Amino acid sequence: MEKFDIIPLSEWGLGNKDLPLGIAGPCSAETEEQVMETARRLVHKNIHVYRAGVWKPRTRPGSFEGVGEEALKWLQRVRQETGLKTGTEVANAEHVRLALKYDVDVLWIGARTTASPFTMQELAEVLRDTDKVVLVKNPMNPDLDLWQGALERLNVCGVRKLGAIHRGFSSYAKTKYRNVPQWEIPIELRRRHPELPIICDPSHISGCRELVMPVSQMALNLHFDGLMIETHCNPDAAWSDASQQLLPERTKTMTEELYLRSGSASGEDAVRLSALRQQIDEIDAQLISMMATRMKVAREIGRVKRDSNMPILQSSRWEDVLGRSVAEGVKQGMSGEFVRRVFEAVHQESIEQQNAVMSEKQ
Ligand code: PEP
Ligand code: MN
Repeated sequence: MEKFDIIPLSEWGLGNKDLPLGIAGPCSAETEEQVMETARRLVHKNIHVYRAGVWKPRTRPGSFEGVGEEALKWLQRVRQETGLKTGTEVANAEHVRLALKYDVDVLWIGARTTASPFTMQELAEVLRDTDKVVLVKNPMNPDLDLWQGALERLNVCGVRKLGAIHRGFSSYAKTKYRNVPQWEIPIELRRRHPELPIICDPSHISGCRELVMPVSQMALNLHFDGLMIETHCNPDAAWSDASQQLLPERTKTMTEELYLRSGSASGEDAVRLSALRQQIDEIDAQLISMMATRMKVAREIGRVKRDSNMPILQSSRWEDVLGRSVAEGVKQGMSGEFVRRVFEAVHQESIEQQNAVMSEKQ
């Protein structure tokens, strides 16, 4: 995988000598008063960039779709009066033109836009060689290649103050999150591109106030480079995303309460850590070998089914296996959702292995 050509986050000029980068502000710019009051109340050493949506992508027509150009003047006022840098979402070439005209510092690409290669290409071309910061949210669907592709389009066009925003993934299943974090996806992005800063947006992952803090802590535990926290001077009255926005005072105290894990283990701790890692590596090797044995048995079952002309899927049997394993997993301190996902993946592989056996010569 080729490395991105990226200027390190500490040199983006956003005024954050210390990581993580703090981005906060309302989902939408609604009125000049709301924008100014929220900004004034957000001034704090841990907040560096003031966010506000000026053009809002809404699920259904008729909802509030943003104030547009007028609100960019309010963002300019925010920067003059508070010293905060500013950021907004851009979704087409005209948005970019206006954001640049009003000298917005950070432009981010929203989740719906990242999923469209045509739009990403158009945006990359109008942003060619910009020295603005450009952040790309993950697409709504859990497709890492699509996210990476959007980042590549921008980087190839010379956007070098480039970062990603993890905002969770939309799912049909009801979960406690508005958008399921699926941490393994940003973790894989980091593995492929350690040079790329990743910011977490706990607000769109959570969808409710109570989860914003634990999701933020998880992001910092994973060594993300910053947080984008939706904040409103009167959250309950917000014109969009009311249930997930925090009061400015809460956002500020939260950034103080979060535990920063930037150290590295030394001395006795380092020895202990390496012993524990060794243990994990051994357990992982056992897991692989047990799964391989399980698949061997599954192929054997496939042969029996083939010889008796039975279909592969016996859904009542699968229900039993899944139900039993989830119950046992929960009893042993794991989340039912996790055990279900693991077993669904194992079952899928079993079916594929049995299917391969079915088509072997008898
Ligand atoms: C937002 O940041 O307000 C927004 C619309 O986010 P997303 O693109 O992640 O849905
Ligand atoms: Mn929002």
